[in-house]
Amino acid sequence: MFGFKKHCQVCGIDVKKETSFERFGKYFCSNDHAQKYADLKMSTKEESDDRGGCCC
Ligand SMILES: [Zn+2]
Repeated sequence: MFGFKKHCQVCGIDVKKETSFERFGKYFCSNDHAQKYADLKMSTKEESDDRGGCCC
């Protein structure tokens, strides 16, 4: 049974469909790494989008 080949976006380990955690359409080996990726993404976004306040 193939067809599901995903890797954790944090550590690169193979993840199985039944044990994977999905965030932002990406797959992770654990909820811990999913959270880590979310934190990374947020901090990166904060840095690149340094305006703050309302956009309109
Ligand atoms: Zn991982």
